Amino acid sequence: MLDPQVEARSWDEQLALDDVAYRAQLAYLLERSPFYRDKLERSSPDDAGGLAEIAGLPLTEKPELKATATEENPVGAHLCVDRSEIVRIYSTSGTTGTPSYIPLTTRDLDDWVTGSARSYAASGISAGQRIVSTYNAGPFAAGAALASFERIGLCHIPVGTGNTERLVRAIQLLEPEAAVLTPSYAAHLLEWAAARGVDLRASSVRRILVAGEPGGGEPAFRAALEDGWGARVTEAMGIGDIGVSLWGECEEQDGMHLGARGFVHPELIDPETGAALAIDDGASGELVLTHLRHRAAPLLRFRTRDHVVVRTSPCPCGRTGPRVRCIGRTDDMLIVRGVNVFPSAVREVVSAFAPDVSGHILVRPSAPGVKQDPPLPVSVELAEGATGDPALAESIRERLRDTLVVQARVDLVPWGSLQRSEYKSKLVEH
Ligand SMILES: [Zn+2]
Repeated sequence: MLDPQVEARSWDEQLALDDVAYRAQLAYLLERSPFYRDKLERSSPDDAGGLAEIAGLPLTEKPELKATATEENPVGAHLCVDRSEIVRIYSTSGTTGTPSYIPLTTRDLDDWVTGSARSYAASGISAGQRIVSTYNAGPFAAGAALASFERIGLCHIPVGTGNTERLVRAIQLLEPEAAVLTPSYAAHLLEWAAARGVDLRASSVRRILVAGEPGGGEPAFRAALEDGWGARVTEAMGIGDIGVSLWGECEEQDGMHLGARGFVHPELIDPETGAALAIDDGASGELVLTHLRHRAAPLLRFRTRDHVVVRTSPCPCGRTGPRVRCIGRTDDMLIVRGVNVFPSAVREVVSAFAPDVSGHILVRPSAPGVKQDPPLPVSVELAEGATGDPALAESIRERLRDTLVVQARVDLVPWGSLQRSEYKSKLVEH
């Protein structure tokens, strides 16, 4: 553990400390944030109570923040500090129009790096080892995660996205013990290497740290990555508006620990009603996060759109507190005759049919919007050299029905016909 006195602190004690921080953060918001002064309509922070009462406060959605951005204040009305106090401004990868800006003070940035370093160190990598990274961080918050590698004491080898040749050469020559990449790229590299007779199992890489999209925690998908790389796969997760790599999995591979504990408070809600859900073992819902000591543009009850399953059983690694596994983005979720279906869960079921399938899938909803009538069309890519067998399609269809309670139409497509990604995979055709 990077900070044993923090990471192994009892969760009750953590919540007591967080309650104090939260009350101060709330007072700060009411004093400094025009956005939250409006939204909370409270004259004094005492009216809002502590963490035990947080579910009584409104949720924050990304579009609301964006709607308050102006030419004079492009960040938005949740900006709480003077320009001179900001040391970094990240942008989110908005698909249309102006990006959202994420400002940080010196301490905000330091907290991001600290939380991220704890999350990545949980994977078992340690000072003195080498790690190769494949993110083109550019304007995006992922850049702060890269700084956490130095904090851990690693030698960081940034290679960037878009040049697989260069990445594999760096692995062969510089012999890093670890690589950090998206699960999609980790999978793509296995195909790339196989086609060129490169054996990644023979490389120096023994730890694959995946982040940037869900998938690294899906058992069948993870098993395929571990087998192909001959490496341990652990995942990390953050969200640009709140912090990078907030969560990171330990070597037990049983959900991600909150590396950003003390900086961020997690909640769980029902994504449809917004009602708070208890963080009990096995509970599932959308993750909602609240800053506890943020300065530049703190957020309260921010909806992450990440749908997670919670684990609260004690972890043998000694880290305390709830762990999460992301099963998909709420934005990608489809509802097929009243049943919630995540494309990543479909991929997980299909991956179990390897080596007959490649593991690539594409859900092709027949109607616009979230609600779908059955059967849900799913393209399943066959493994290289495999031929489409109607019995295979039928077996996959039955397994999807039994596991996810969804009626699907499985279309087998030839190897190589679904798009590969060096960054994030698209699992739904919108
Ligand atoms: Zn653990």
